[in-house]
Amino acid sequence: LSVSDTIEAQRICVCVRKRPLNSKELNKKEIDVVSVTGNGTLLVHEPKQKVDLTKYLDNQVFHFDYSFDESSTNDLVYRFTAKPLVQTVFDGGMATCFAYGQTGSGKTHTMGGDFTGRSQNSSKGIYALAAQDVFTLLKQKRYASLDLCPYVTFFEIYNSKVFDLLNKKAKLRVLEDEKQQVQVVGLQEMYVSCAEDVIKMIEMGSACRTSGQTSANANSSRSHAILQVVLRRKNKLHGKFSLVDLAGNERGTDVSSNDRQTLVETAEINRSLLALKECIRSLGMDSHHIPFRMSKLTQVLRDSFIGENSRTCMIAMVSPGMASCDYTLNTLRYADRVKEL
Ligand code: ADP
Ligand code: MG
Repeated sequence: LSVSDTIEAQRICVCVRKRPLNSKELNKKEIDVVSVTGNGTLLVHEPKQKVDLTKYLDNQVFHFDYSFDESSTNDLVYRFTAKPLVQTVFDGGMATCFAYGQTGSGKTHTMGGDFTGRSQNSSKGIYALAAQDVFTLLKQKRYASLDLCPYVTFFEIYNSKVFDLLNKKAKLRVLEDEKQQVQVVGLQEMYVSCAEDVIKMIEMGSACRTSGQTSANANSSRSHAILQVVLRRKNKLHGKFSLVDLAGNERGTDVSSNDRQTLVETAEINRSLLALKECIRSLGMDSHHIPFRMSKLTQVLRDSFIGENSRTCMIAMVSPGMASCDYTLNTLRYADRVKEL
């Protein structure tokens, strides 16, 4: 595996990451139905039955820019996905990185990492790894002279409403001016002086995100969380990196989701994920019409879908177990269409 020039130059990069079977799945003796076969190729073995009731496997093949198997670390995934985008931001561009997939597939593990205890073996996620690289680049000679100042914002979109994770979940309004510039009114933009500062914000915001949850179907899985690293030069926007831990993409067809609240949430999530797909596709096609108004998610990310120097990366997360097979196929089909030309 090497970061090839072609991938680096691509505006849209779509990858898939398979997590290992967890202890619950192993206890249930679940079968692993996903194989990563190299070169970005991934196979899903869907067990089926013929009319005569004999069993067979229906293999479905998918190709992505990269496919990461269950042995991949956050470091490796980062190196091939978000890392090249840090450069884009320093070069004055807009970058976005999305973690997409069903609840429990590894989105938060990949983006936020695991900070419990902050021990040696706690693994940093893409948020923290990107923050480290931002400060490494800031110190480099060619960027030091630009006088760039780094800031961080961290907010959540739940049911089309925006909440500031760095300000006690304050509910914020989104406004669009006559020039179509979108603003999240009152969003805290915190100055950060080192990577450790960013990590503190991530911890603070993540704690805020998960607080006040009652049911097992926690809000955090029903909301999009957006961490932005903003570079300013003399108070003017230079570049922006948005790192998005998307809401779980499961459909409202499972048994647990027949109450009204959940149905509304699900409809909202589906709408925003559809909008996201359309916006990324128009970025890929250099289209002048970007349907960013289709959802709050795409509206607040409008900046990222316009401009010459916009790049995006989507990491589709999949659970390997047979019980997740339908969700996995849904995820892979979505990721496939994000980049279809
Ligand atoms: P999501 O945010 O998509 O709902 P999580 O990131 O919370 O999913 O992951 C669910 C569980 O699986 C967590 O306990 C997490 O630590 C674990 N997990 C996810 N991805 C991996 C991985 N690549 N390796 C090991 N454990 C993982
Ligand atoms: Mg999560």
